[in-house]
Amino acid sequence: MSRVLIIGAGGVSSVTVKKCARLPEIFDEIYLASRTLSKCEALQKEVGGDRLKGVFTVDADNADAVIELINKVKPDLVVNLALPYQDLPIMDACLATKTDYLDTANYEPKDVAKFEYSWQWAYQQKFHDAGIMALLGSGFDPGVTNVYTAYAAKHYFDEIHYLDIVDCNGGDHGQAFATNFNPEINIREVTQRGRFWENGEWKETDPLTVREDLDYQNIGVRASYLLFHEELESLVKHFPTLKRARFWMTFGDAYLNHLKVLEGIGMTSIHPIDFQGQQIIPLEFLKAVLPNPGSLAEGYTGKTCIGTYITGIKDGKEKTIFIYNNCEHAVCYEEVGAQAVSYTTGVPAMIGAALMLNNTWKKPGVWNMEQFDPDPFMAMLKEHGLPWHVIECESSPFAK
Ligand code: NDP
Repeated sequence: MSRVLIIGAGGVSSVTVKKCARLPEIFDEIYLASRTLSKCEALQKEVGGDRLKGVFTVDADNADAVIELINKVKPDLVVNLALPYQDLPIMDACLATKTDYLDTANYEPKDVAKFEYSWQWAYQQKFHDAGIMALLGSGFDPGVTNVYTAYAAKHYFDEIHYLDIVDCNGGDHGQAFATNFNPEINIREVTQRGRFWENGEWKETDPLTVREDLDYQNIGVRASYLLFHEELESLVKHFPTLKRARFWMTFGDAYLNHLKVLEGIGMTSIHPIDFQGQQIIPLEFLKAVLPNPGSLAEGYTGKTCIGTYITGIKDGKEKTIFIYNNCEHAVCYEEVGAQAVSYTTGVPAMIGAALMLNNTWKKPGVWNMEQFDPDPFMAMLKEHGLPWHVIECESSPFAK
């Protein structure tokens, strides 16, 4: 019998809860907790009380509150689908109660837009000694992109040299400006300086200044901008033969123009200001006026294409492959009432949790996705709505 406790009841969580609910043979009992109880109750109504057995309110910034909740529910695994700020308190609570842990995004302090694994990797020994496991970044990117890389390294190459992860949302939600996942986290990510790995060191670029026009499968050519993304950090560590690793995301002109204006007037700042005698953070206020990403799902047209270009050596010859998934917003909406960005994150979170619960991916310590055998994860992607394809390319679409 297995019991899972999911924390967070936003766009991603709603997909994971629904997908877990369909697999009673793995997820016998599902519990859900979040800051706002009514969101958990709404999900329970949709999924049914027989599958989503209990809902709770919790402030996951507070490790003691999470410990109390874990002691009440006694889960085998905690799936953290709240925000990156809560990663460490939830990991502390898992450590105190000897409970396995999974998340989809690396820890980020609230007052600095800094994405790195150092904080969570520092728990490696403690988790190992407690005999529990943490699986970090089980979303799409990070997550599936790490698994694609491990799969390519295992089946297609003797050594991998160049990695380019590409993330295209070719969809249209009809809003002037909106983000597809939590606006605060999304805007912090895209407004930071670009960073990529080359010849053994990190190189920086000004935000959104390096552009390539890439042709995405079943979407077409889209302007793609170099960003830092957290999976680069773990992938260059675990695949030391990589000479270069970069991440690209597509943005339309309207999105970039809005972002430029919002940044220019200080609305994306994470530093508190005084407003009518109250301290507020402009980016948190901006989040409150932007559309809730979950609300974009109805009527969202088009699809995403997220994948990994890998160039390396096989039998003495250089070759390039592209592994990717296309996911259509409307199809996701029909299946689970969500848009594709929530879907492509929520499904891999369910798969990572399933592989931990059935002991396929299981060892004490703190791990990134590429440190496990990619084959069972790749098989489950095909079974649960995220089919993937491998293309052998004549040459890399990127200038060397
Ligand atoms: P949402 O903002 O839609 O949902 C976040 C949920 O967490 C909300 O229900 C929120 O509660 C809850 N929450 C926030 N703070 C706390 C707290 N202190 N205690 C308890 N609950 C809290 O975000 P998304 O669903 O879009 O994203 C969820 C996670 O997935 C994020 O970490 C995001 O970075 C990650 N992500 C990962 C991707 C990947 O590919 N790896 C892609 C997209 C997202 P409330 O409703 O009260 O605000």
